[in-house]
Amino acid sequence: MVKKRKILIPQPRSKFLKVVCKVCGAENIVFSHATFPVRCKVCGTIMARPTGGKAQILRDRAEIVAELG
Ligand SMILES: [Zn+2]
Repeated sequence: MVKKRKILIPQPRSKFLKVVCKVCGAENIVFSHATFPVRCKVCGTIMARPTGGKAQILRDRAEIVAELG
């Protein structure tokens, strides 16, 4: 019997990121693989947008200050 090798899709290591909103300075926790646009909880600025994989942090609006497991 021929062993079929399955091509494994690498599981992205998802985590939470602590980001600071550059507009109002509030800290927000953002899921690294968010599938929806992430808004600042205080001012509503969109800080990250989904890409189909890892969410893209919009660097002009938000800054990652920490990565949480
Ligand atoms: Zn804000």
